[in-house]
Amino acid sequence: MKRFFGIALLLILAGLAAGQDQRPAPGKVKVLLCGALIHPGTGQVQHNAMIVIEGERIRELAENSTLPAGAQVQVIDLSDHTCLPGLIDTHTHTLLQGDITAADYDEQLLKQSVAYRTILGTRSVRRALEYGFTTIRDLETEGAGYADVDLKRAINNGIIPGPRMRVATRAMDVTGAYPLQGYAPDVPVPHGVQLVDGPDNARKAVREQISYGADWIKVYSDRSYFVRSDGVLDDIPTFTLDELRAIVDETHRQRHKVASHAMALNGVHNSVEAGVDSIEHGNYIADADIKTMVQKGIYYVPTIYVGEYVAEGRAAAGAKVWLEMLKIHQETFHRALNAGVKIAFGTDVGGFDWGINPAVEFPYMVKYGMTPIQAVRSATTTAAEMLGMQNDVGSISAGKYADIVALKGDPLADITLLQKIDFVMKGGEIYKSAVH
Ligand SMILES: [Zn+2]
Repeated sequence: MKRFFGIALLLILAGLAAGQDQRPAPGKVKVLLCGALIHPGTGQVQHNAMIVIEGERIRELAENSTLPAGAQVQVIDLSDHTCLPGLIDTHTHTLLQGDITAADYDEQLLKQSVAYRTILGTRSVRRALEYGFTTIRDLETEGAGYADVDLKRAINNGIIPGPRMRVATRAMDVTGAYPLQGYAPDVPVPHGVQLVDGPDNARKAVREQISYGADWIKVYSDRSYFVRSDGVLDDIPTFTLDELRAIVDETHRQRHKVASHAMALNGVHNSVEAGVDSIEHGNYIADADIKTMVQKGIYYVPTIYVGEYVAEGRAAAGAKVWLEMLKIHQETFHRALNAGVKIAFGTDVGGFDWGINPAVEFPYMVKYGMTPIQAVRSATTTAAEMLGMQNDVGSISAGKYADIVALKGDPLADITLLQKIDFVMKGGEIYKSAVH
């Protein structure tokens, strides 16, 4: 390993000596020396890999052997590390700081200003990046309006550190279906979503949210879960099929995508019939709907860990169904995986505390039946495709953004190591480094 890098470095230095005249700006070119490099798409592991980075993008991998002549090169030695593409969490809530109980949720909406919640949000996005998530899809602000658009803008303008963001802004549900609930009718309270009733209002809400910066439209398709005697997880659907179709049609017409919170039978069925782009949670999905998901290319974002995280607290508060749902979820995941549904990594972090590394989701995916490389793929290539960002992120190859993370050891042998990422680069900039 060392000898390989020695020779390669000599080549770089020779290039430097030979090409003084065309030298780009100092520090513009970085070279990462990776002991191992995981290519999630193929599952191939490349040993002693050299990644040449120019500006914010990857210029080439070492096997092309044309090293950057004349450049001032910053060499970053990760020869005792495994490198992989920056991770993608496709289901986050940066504006929420955990809500095991309804009281936790109500308190954030009633007692914290949107300004204060946004300040906490800046901490969430920094944590996401430091955990190794260089891209996230933030699936609604839970009553904090369009604050996610501002977080994204602050990151893109270099004001605060954070991942690349795709945002869903306010999300939608029907009247009477979403917290805050249980207050007296004459006491006006805020809601965690935009309340929308009827196809025309739904179209108007889509237009409004997109005009204020929504990349994705998020809908809540079901609520009130219960396990039937035959073991099927049943629900009360929120939107009518006509309303969902109007939302999907209007969103797609504007070249955006729809994510649907759908945990059980009817919510999932209506969502796939309407043609949404991703099913969030999907604790129970009927076989016929799994088939439709494969046919239509609808993604499944299972968010396993959050279910485990909230189950005990909610069961203790009287909602025992949350414990039963865990078993049903595992069985559904297994059927979806075997049927070939595209599964993207998403955690619902924010639903649990941002102090917990969302990479805790990976061991659950493996426990539920994925191989380690499938789990890594779900958070890189598959997630990038779902977001339509596959030309920029999700893999390490020439032309992609230099979004690269590294850790000690082999995550394909021990998936929990993904919770110990100690090197994070986004767009060629280093945000975390245990190597000097
Ligand atoms: Zn969520």
